[in-house]
Formats: sequence, C-alpha cells, structure tokens
Amino acid sequence: MWWALGFGWMLFTYDHHGTPLLFWLTLAFLATDVFFLALRIILYIFLSAAFCFCLPCIIVFMHYINSQERASEAEISSLPKYRYEVSNGDVGQPDNRACRMIPMGTNGQDFSTERVLRIENADCCICLCQYEDGEQLLLLPCDHHFHSTCIVKWLMLKATCPLCKVLVAPNE
Ligand SMILES: [Zn+2]
Ligand SMILES: [Zn+2]
Repeated sequence: MWWALGFGWMLFTYDHHGTPLLFWLTLAFLATDVFFLALRIILYIFLSAAFCFCLPCIIVFMHYINSQERASEAEISSLPKYRYEVSNGDVGQPDNRACRMIPMGTNGQDFSTERVLRIENADCCICLCQYEDGEQLLLLPCDHHFHSTCIVKWLMLKATCPLCKVLVAPNE
C-alpha cells in the first residue's frame, strides 16, 4: 500500500522542477519495480497454466512407467501356487517336523512336484512371519517362495523377486 501511495505521490503531486535528477532516478527505480512485478505475475500465470495442463500428462506418464514395472494379472496368476503343510515329526523334537509345499495347480500348467522345506526356510521374507499350516504360498521362477498375499501385493508394484531381483516374467 505504501508503495502504491508513494508511486502516486511521485507521479501526480511531487513538484520535480527543483530536483529533476532525484525525480528521474526515483522514477527509474519505480519502473524497474513495476517491471519485475509484472514479470512475476506473468511467471505465476504461466506456471499455473503449465501445472494445470501438464499435470494430467505427468500422471498418465507416471502411470505408464508404473505399468511397465509391475507384473500383470496374467503373470501373477501363472505362478505356481502351493499349500504349506506341517506334519509333526518325532515327539519332543520340533526340528524333525516335515514342512512341505503341496502344489495347488495353476492355469493349465502342471506343477505337480511337492517340495520339502527346512523349518528355518519356512518363512516369508516380506512379512518376516513363519509359514502357518494351510497357508497359500507362491513360488517365483527364481525358486524363492512367499505368502501368496504378500508377494501379490509386491508384484503389483514391481515385477521382480524382492530377494534376488530376478524378473518374474523374463520372456516379456
Ligand atoms: Zn508374508
Ligand atoms: Zn528370487
């Protein structure tokens, strides 16, 4: 407000015939001020317009990049599913328990080989929980296994194994 008042006073009421140099110098400073103010306003308008028009493009671009990185539904559903099963071993020796991965079958493919797990390997490296009897597991091509729910969430973000970074669908 003071700036506008001073500006008005300089232009319309100040008697500059006595001190012409001071008058023109002040006027030059004011003109520079006005110039930069206008420049700032134009820049703001330009940036807001760029933000409004480019944001949808950026969102689409990010979405595209993300869809390149994550695994597709078909890739996820083609992974072999297993059911984790624990059968009790010798009485008093929990380490002797046989932990097995029983194949549950996948779309048109036969993964009929049952796998035996050591108890120390029977945990999910995503949630760090030990597998419980009856839980559903997914096996990746790199031979790493995880809880089905945990690895599906991961693969929706990135199509690689969280442990060894091998691609889930290397052919594509
Ligand atoms: Zn898990
Ligand atoms: Zn792996």
